[in-house]
Amino acid sequence: LVRAEQVHKSYQRNEVLKGVDLEVRRGEVMCLIGPSGSGKSTFLRCINLLEQIQHGRLWVDGELLGYRQRGDTLHELSEKEQSRQRADIGMVFQDFNLFSHYTALENVIAAPMIVRGESRAAAVERATALLERVGLGDKLHAYPRRLSGGQQQRVAIARALAMRPKVMLFDEPTSALDPELVGEVLDVIGDLADEGLTMIIVTHEIGFARRVADSLAFMDAGVVVESGRPADVIDAPQHPRTQAFLSKVL
Ligand code: ATP
Ligand code: MG
Repeated sequence: LVRAEQVHKSYQRNEVLKGVDLEVRRGEVMCLIGPSGSGKSTFLRCINLLEQIQHGRLWVDGELLGYRQRGDTLHELSEKEQSRQRADIGMVFQDFNLFSHYTALENVIAAPMIVRGESRAAAVERATALLERVGLGDKLHAYPRRLSGGQQQRVAIARALAMRPKVMLFDEPTSALDPELVGEVLDVIGDLADEGLTMIIVTHEIGFARRVADSLAFMDAGVVVESGRPADVIDAPQHPRTQAFLSKVL
């Protein structure tokens, strides 16, 4: 469902992604691990069209992201077309990024109404169901500042799901949480995995990756160094850089 082929991304002279190759099948969960600065967030931002890539290709559900191919040449898509592609890709950030002046419910209904043109009634019905599903049925009208970090992150997950994304991207969804709140967010993500949602999750939670992911990719210095079944990568890493990283985080 998601395919990356030789993705390169530079900021001025700093080449951050140096040819990322990766494939996630429909219904699969891939966890992405790697040291700070290896390019994990940048890669997710490229899939979400928040960053433009300089070389390589990205596809979601068979559709080339950001460009249209005619013959041998690529033409950049208009901002409107890129927005349409972006709407199919859900993103959840480390620091929640909720609209602070909106209630939980208002956070979840905003994009479906504005981007998808859903009626308020339809958006509210679905948002209510989604917030109930993430265990926040009693917090519909609470503002973010009245919610714990774990609750805010679950609102952010419901908000992303409200767009009916083809794929969900998570960038360290539990890194900003107090330890006792990590589990409630990982449980919600685990439920989504059981329901067959395709996800790419950047995380340092190796135990979670082992339990939930179908594949685990280790990224270092702008490339995917090694990937495979989580248990294989964790228990028997093949590459010295993977071994060194895992020995530090396990
Ligand atoms: P972490 O685990 O710390 O979140 P990461 O693997 O997500 O790290 P990135 O955030 O993708 O790493 O950053 C990779 C490199 O790209 C870093 O060297 C960073 O300084 C650089 N970088 C990221 N965003 C920008 C930007 N907007 N402008 C310039 N350089 C950037
Ligand atoms: Mg990051």
